[in-house]
Amino acid sequence: SAPGARFTVSDLPLREALRGQTAYGAPQLDVPVALNTNENPHPPSAALVADVAESVREAAAVLHRYPDRDAVALRTDLARYLSDRVGVPLTVDNLWAANGSNEILQQLLQAYGGPGRTAIGFVPSYSMHPIISGGTDTAWVNVMRAPDFSLDVDAAVAEITARRPDVVFLTSPNNPTGQSVSPEDVRAIVSAATGIVIVDEAYAEFSDRESAIALIDEFGDRLVVSRTMSKAFAFAGGRLGYLVAAPALVASLLLVRLPYHLSVVTQAAARAALRHADDTLAGVAAIVTERVRVVDALAGLGYDVVDSDANFVLFGRFADAPASWQRFLDGGVLIRDVGIAGFLRVTIGTADENDAFLRVAAELAPTDR
Ligand code: PMP
Repeated sequence: SAPGARFTVSDLPLREALRGQTAYGAPQLDVPVALNTNENPHPPSAALVADVAESVREAAAVLHRYPDRDAVALRTDLARYLSDRVGVPLTVDNLWAANGSNEILQQLLQAYGGPGRTAIGFVPSYSMHPIISGGTDTAWVNVMRAPDFSLDVDAAVAEITARRPDVVFLTSPNNPTGQSVSPEDVRAIVSAATGIVIVDEAYAEFSDRESAIALIDEFGDRLVVSRTMSKAFAFAGGRLGYLVAAPALVASLLLVRLPYHLSVVTQAAARAALRHADDTLAGVAAIVTERVRVVDALAGLGYDVVDSDANFVLFGRFADAPASWQRFLDGGVLIRDVGIAGFLRVTIGTADENDAFLRVAAELAPTDR
């Protein structure tokens, strides 16, 4: 066995707060149809692959040097993309980028959370928010969403007013439930907050809702919008997340980021992928069309389907969701048990993948539902 294998975690002088915790872990299984991590099912176009390869080839010639620490060219490209997309004139000073939006969130918690500070989130929501808070020793407070999983904005404002958390997480569209938060509700929450409000818009491109980015000029002292190239941009493997905020807030993150955190290769590949945004986002429209088809089909089969503005759907009700999850897996379809009693989440795939999923959904006996 491996040298040192006789030691266990309980032998280590680990931080007390991490003892007994389990790591984030969506199963990565080798199955015919993987609809469990909200990826874009369409692989990059041949033109995009060629552009990434050529850009990385050029970048390889300077691999003996550190990358641009501030990723100015990439942030400029992201500002241009977002300005066009959301109609807000952003500059490089409004953008920050990191290795996935998880690293963006971690940097925000390093700067605005920490010992003695509190973060709040409206659950069920993205399970990494409390984990990243724990990793930075930020206390975590759960507030329940409404029974239909929508955000109960009055309850949210009341909790924020009473507790004055240092960090508020709002996820829109919300993972794993799918609904968006309206701009009026974001405004009410930001108005009530004294700490920072992170609007996690990882799935924004799948929704028609106005982005919270429109509120940054007004609430620049506390509003941050986090986004990612992992979902709509079909760049999950490239690891590129970013945020939009007022210039001072962006500048504050330089205090916690590791120098040269975004490699030469990452920056070059992300810029190449961004050059193909129009093409990639055309595929997003197809995913939304498929989402409508899957929702209708599930409802037709008698399932309870939660409204979704994203590239996944939460559906139930199952007498035993883990057992039904296994039935899908036995049918060759990996979906996600997100730990909500009676419900499972499916990512929208290609038409063929969705057909495979719907075939198993139809086979499950009514008593399973
Ligand atoms: N936010 C939400 C709501 C997500 O669902 C995810 C990915 N599952 C992320 C952030 C992180 O994605 P990434 O680090 O790939 O950008």
